[in-house]
Amino acid sequence: MNGAGRLAVRTRDLVPGTPQLSVDLAAVARNTRTLAERTAGELMAVVKADGFGHGGVDVARTALAHGATRLGVTSLSEAWTLRDAGLVAPLLSWLNPVDADFPAAAVRDVDVAVPSLAHLAAVAEGAGRNRVHLHVDAGMARDGAEPEEWATLCRAARRAEVRGQVEVVGVMGHLGCAEEPADDCNALGRTRFAWAVEVARGAGLRPRDRHLAATAATLTDPRAHHTMSRVGAGLVGIDPSRTTDLEPAMTLTAPLTQVRRVRAGTPVGYGHAHRTTHATHLGLLPLGYADGLPRAASDRAEVLVRGTRRPVVGRISMDQVVVDLGPAGAEAGESVTVFGPGADGEPTVAEWAAWADTIEHEIVTGIGARVPRRTLAAPYLRRLA
Ligand SMILES: *Cc1c(COP(=O)(O)O)cnc(C)c1O
Repeated sequence: MNGAGRLAVRTRDLVPGTPQLSVDLAAVARNTRTLAERTAGELMAVVKADGFGHGGVDVARTALAHGATRLGVTSLSEAWTLRDAGLVAPLLSWLNPVDADFPAAAVRDVDVAVPSLAHLAAVAEGAGRNRVHLHVDAGMARDGAEPEEWATLCRAARRAEVRGQVEVVGVMGHLGCAEEPADDCNALGRTRFAWAVEVARGAGLRPRDRHLAATAATLTDPRAHHTMSRVGAGLVGIDPSRTTDLEPAMTLTAPLTQVRRVRAGTPVGYGHAHRTTHATHLGLLPLGYADGLPRAASDRAEVLVRGTRRPVVGRISMDQVVVDLGPAGAEAGESVTVFGPGADGEPTVAEWAAWADTIEHEIVTGIGARVPRRTLAAPYLRRLA
């Protein structure tokens, strides 16, 4: 357990002159409060994929101290990480194979989602009495039970409950188009979810946790809120609905490891994909696609050097990338901002995502393990997890 009132963060002391990923938990704290204010229901902090790359335990603690009441992850191995860190908050894991260690989930007080009859059988036959959330596919043909099997699943779950094998505490669904609030697919998803809850009740179940909304629907559609929202992206400043100002929490910097003067017409990098159009200075950054800079952003991306945007030129390599520093140049050793919240003119994660034809989620979850990390604690915690 962690000391009362203190936020335990992994702050690896950084070797000067290396790349650095800073995570600002104060931004996570403010985003959590913004999201909590948007719903009358409970807020589940979804901290899968290491808290969307921001540090799952840190994001979990921060969110719990600022309005979230529960935690959510996909796999049970992610759940163990949170429990091992001393987090005792209610915790749900929703994406597991049928042979997952469900008895351990019961012992460690981790709720599990049940998306099929096969999962129900595995959970019910296990040694523990698991708390389960029946998971309906609300219309994206991805995870969750199909409508055709839902009534059967509910009846089987009720039988297992009567036998004392499981406790059905929730019904969950997920919307496939929530980032486009006007899309008909949302109405279909809401209707199917409401129907799924009615069917569960008709089977004799009393699911007190009914949850459908993730970040986008939490911010745009109260009809999807029910008793709880599961928010992940929003905690770390990503709003897929683009309706709300949330704060990005990551800043990626790197030093220039080398600067050279070149003539006009100098070919740069693999395949000579770029040629300088003018005499200029080229700077080298020790970050590449192995560190999460998407190769698709080659020759499109920008970075901030001495307060000015400068273009990335040539192909992004595995470990390095070249920046056109312009005639004025810069010194080897100077720090360059690859992305950040944008307040000082640096590119944002959203811009990097656009340059790579992807979404912000893929950028923040893709930062490689070899980039040293620094976590800035939230200044104020209302309550410990
Ligand atoms: C990832 C995930 C969430 C969180 O979605 P965000 O859009 O990141 O808030 C919620 N529910 C499920 C089932 C998920 O997989």
